[in-house]
Amino acid sequence: MSRRVDAVVVGSGPGGSVTADGLAAAGLDVLVLEEGPRVAPETQVQYSLDQMAESYRNAGLTAALGAPTIAYTEGCVVGGGSEVNSGLYHRPSAQLLADWTRTHRIEDLAPEALLPHHRRVEESLGIDDDLGAAHGGGAGRLLRDGADTLGWHAVHVPRAARASASGTVERQTMSRTYLARAEQGGVEVQDSTRVVRVLRRGARAVGVEVVRRAGGRDVRELLHADVVFVCGGTIQTPALLQRSGWRRHVGGNLSVHPTVKVVAELPEHVDDLGDLGEVASVQVREFAPWLSFGSSASTHAMVALALSENWDSFGPQLERWQRLGVHYAAIQTTGRGRVQAVPGRRDPVVTYRLSALDRARLRSGLARLMHLLLAGGSPQLLPAFSGARAVTGRDDAVSVAEGFRPTRSSLMTVHLAGTVPMGEDRDRCGADSFGALHDAERLWVNDASLLPWAPGINPQGTLMAIAHRNVARFLADQGAR
Ligand SMILES: Cc1cc2nc3c(=O)[nH]c(=O)nc-3n(C[C@H](O)[C@H](O)[C@H](O)COP(=O)(O)OP(=O)(O)OC[C@H]3O[C@@H](n4cnc5c(N)ncnc54)[C@H](O)[C@@H]3O)c2cc1C
Repeated sequence: MSRRVDAVVVGSGPGGSVTADGLAAAGLDVLVLEEGPRVAPETQVQYSLDQMAESYRNAGLTAALGAPTIAYTEGCVVGGGSEVNSGLYHRPSAQLLADWTRTHRIEDLAPEALLPHHRRVEESLGIDDDLGAAHGGGAGRLLRDGADTLGWHAVHVPRAARASASGTVERQTMSRTYLARAEQGGVEVQDSTRVVRVLRRGARAVGVEVVRRAGGRDVRELLHADVVFVCGGTIQTPALLQRSGWRRHVGGNLSVHPTVKVVAELPEHVDDLGDLGEVASVQVREFAPWLSFGSSASTHAMVALALSENWDSFGPQLERWQRLGVHYAAIQTTGRGRVQAVPGRRDPVVTYRLSALDRARLRSGLARLMHLLLAGGSPQLLPAFSGARAVTGRDDAVSVAEGFRPTRSSLMTVHLAGTVPMGEDRDRCGADSFGALHDAERLWVNDASLLPWAPGINPQGTLMAIAHRNVARFLADQGAR
């Protein structure tokens, strides 16, 4: 069976949802194809094992190989990463946009050009400052107190979330915002449908080949489209393009924010623990963009995971898990990774090489994080790398940090970027300044793959504003034609 639409959008994460909504608003007949299932956000407990099994790719067991290996996670569900993330939202700095513009020759990326797109995104997501402040919790309080004591720069990061009538936090995921609006506007979203290849006639994309689960078996189908937008995320977008024969500046330049973690005991005087399943909205950005500090969710499972590196000595402390917060130091790396599709295999091979500078940054990040948490009044720190011992004072922190090796730590990241960098410099960019693939016709990328490198902030806000801008440019060009 074969079908024709104006536009196919591969993937329904933040990039794909913004794309579908924008195209549909302009009157195009749009079909969104999403590999993951449709899961109502209110049916899941955030950061639970059930959520990982249902809504993460490979139940969250994905890793970039290297020394050390870096675990990463991606949403694989209608709404993509927005369904499982915390919705912390930033606008990129003027400096970052200027650096990207200069290094990749990106047109029209000044802060004032991006601002109207940010405003539209913020309005649609209900970016809410007060909500974030209300959900700092004990872990956030510790970071804030440490920063105040040391005179370090701390920020409250707004979130894509609203307070529901019952007072709980309702995260503004794609399925509740952009995608819901797109579907009301006539967009069809097919879940559990994997795009295996983009169909091409020469350099021109003419549709996609999909595999869909139906009646307990896989059904293959060809779908024809006037234009194809690939928005499968930083790992899957280059893998799909490679499978379809587009390889130039596609899949290299993978850039992530690896994190090293420390569990901190809360000081006695902190009695407002907040919601332990929520990520604190406080971040300490004294050394940003190369190093920043924040808190992860501090549920029983998350605390157990962070203690597991030294289970024999740290495990018994899990009894008091409500008084333990999980904190991280996240770095920007100078090393890069690669995504490589492998014929006959469903998942690409992902590799990452940390540079000597990155290793030094991780060690320095760990030492500074411990300094910050002690300054905030934590009586005891439990660093998450194998062979670490409990830290109760500054001298301990220095000697424990000296024993840190990235290979002894389970490094992980949830921020992925850079595998199809955008810009006019054809010696390093896979797509042009607005996401059109350089070596193709009628084929666009519009997701986090376009960001030249992991931005040193939570990336969703930046990629959504850029995706919004790219759709506007695409539609303007169509009009011009
Ligand atoms: C646990 C977690 C917490 C995070 N917290 C934050 C945060 O607080 N703030 C922030 O800014 N960022 C956060 N992030 C990162 C943020 O979620 C991502 O940057 C963002 O989702 C990337 O959007 P995207 O559109 O590029 O790709 P994705 O969100 O990954 O969406 C891509 C979609 O495409 C689908 N897909 C892929 N390949 C195919 C195919 N071949 N066929 C059909 N469908 C396909 C995938 O299943 C997926 O649903 C977090 C991420 C995670 C995992």
